[in-house]
Amino acid sequence: QLSKRLMAVASRIPAGAVIADIGSDHAYLPCYAVQRGVAAQAVAGEVADGPLQAAKQQVQAAGLEEKIAVRKGNGLEVIAAGEVDCVTIAGMGGPLITSILNEGKEKLVGVKRLVLQPNLRADHIRRWLLVNGWQLIDEEIMEEDGKIYEILTAEQGDADKPYGKRKEVELLTGPMLLAEKSDVFLKKWRREADQLEVVLENLKKAEDQQAADQKRQSVLQELQLIKEAINGEE
Ligand code: SAM
Repeated sequence: QLSKRLMAVASRIPAGAVIADIGSDHAYLPCYAVQRGVAAQAVAGEVADGPLQAAKQQVQAAGLEEKIAVRKGNGLEVIAAGEVDCVTIAGMGGPLITSILNEGKEKLVGVKRLVLQPNLRADHIRRWLLVNGWQLIDEEIMEEDGKIYEILTAEQGDADKPYGKRKEVELLTGPMLLAEKSDVFLKKWRREADQLEVVLENLKKAEDQQAADQKRQSVLQELQLIKEAINGEE
């Protein structure tokens, strides 16, 4: 049984797509997508040997070697330009997902859809999508086993379209997630705000108060955006 988190990623794969799942670990996602007939074919990319072996074993056990190629490599280097039409990257931090996309930009030319599931700092991904001409078409926030995850889906298009006049708040928390303001969304941002309050307290005790001051400014800025997201415009 696939996790609720990966199921949510799988549900965004277009029918009949050829996918690349980067950082695939056990290749659970491509196996599920191909077995269900969602994806026609897949590449499972992995940079580390252990997870690579786990992916190979999983694909073999499922008898899917004909349809799923398990390849070792860093990020998008495991695919050729034009080889896949959907890229999924799940279970990593937003900054790592962003650097994988950025370093592999030339491989994304023929790709129609990105389905990205950052564990943290989704704002890094939103900014990258915006600058690189990818339009956010869907966002989901969900909780599983006490952890909160976001799933961002983007297609090439009008990258600015989802954003309105509260762009900074929207980039941080997600334009669609902000409009929806679900209980999970509020839980996430209340949790983040509490953590930032702790950071501010700790900064009072820092030895280098000049460095602390700089950090304090950026924490206060983010806290302000979070409060706007939770309470509406302030
Ligand atoms: N995608 C799976 C999921 O969501 O359950 C596995 C997530 S696991 C926490 C992250 C995986 O990404 C690890 O197996 C790691 O080896 C792999 N990884 C990290 N950086 C990578 C990169 N630059 N290229 C390919 N794989 C990478």
